[in-house]
Amino acid sequence: MDDMAPTPNGSNSRSGTETVASGSGKNGSFPCESGPSATLAAREVTLADPAGASPDRPHCLDAALDYTKHGFSVILLHGIVDGHCTCGQPDCTSPGEHPIDSWKTAQTERASPEQLEAAFLRNPHANVGIVTGAVSGLVVVDIFGPYGLTSFSKIVDEPPNLPSVRTGNGHHVYGRYPGTALKNFVKTYPGLDGRADGGYVVAPPSRHASGKDYIWRTPLEDPLPELPAELLALFTSSGEQREPSPKRKSRRDDAGPLAGS
Ligand SMILES: [Zn+2]
Repeated sequence: MDDMAPTPNGSNSRSGTETVASGSGKNGSFPCESGPSATLAAREVTLADPAGASPDRPHCLDAALDYTKHGFSVILLHGIVDGHCTCGQPDCTSPGEHPIDSWKTAQTERASPEQLEAAFLRNPHANVGIVTGAVSGLVVVDIFGPYGLTSFSKIVDEPPNLPSVRTGNGHHVYGRYPGTALKNFVKTYPGLDGRADGGYVVAPPSRHASGKDYIWRTPLEDPLPELPAELLALFTSSGEQREPSPKRKSRRDDAGPLAGS
């Protein structure tokens, strides 16, 4: 364990600075990487700029409220202002990705829309996080860095048409929590992590430290579709590394740490 070791306040993870390897998988097969780029770009703009958002409304508030309608447990994360994390720590190791407050309660109880609205108005630059696992009925596969897409394409034959997000250095794929306890998994394959019970993810339209916003590539749907069996199996594996990680210079992390306080 290096950058993924959990810490009580979830402040361990580090912002990825790797080059995004979009489309560099075995066959470049990630579903959202295909199709005319012009169409995709147009859709991104639409999804990143929800109707009804006003300039003085907190950047992530409307999305946060929408996530509650999907039954997700939503938390506030520190945001990025002028390239810096709003936590104010000059040596912050997870800019824009760590919770503003303890998120222990959020692992078992969902905040109400009223609570979230008040919290975002107090923290207008906050990013938005979604707690994964049973509380949200959600599991997320985090595909990151230069090897993530290659690993992903080795595991799934057919690119699944699942809700997905473009992160700062890869993709998050959303699926339904199957109802039995599921653990996070880390680097069973290079560039692939899973978030389930005891995890969270940074969600759109949060701002990444790179300055890019997280955006939906394939929108959420209700109910969430199930992950393909081969992906779900990663969450129940013993955690042994199936394939060693190639050496990398930089570190990653778009998703939250594996355990909260
Ligand atoms: Zn910070």
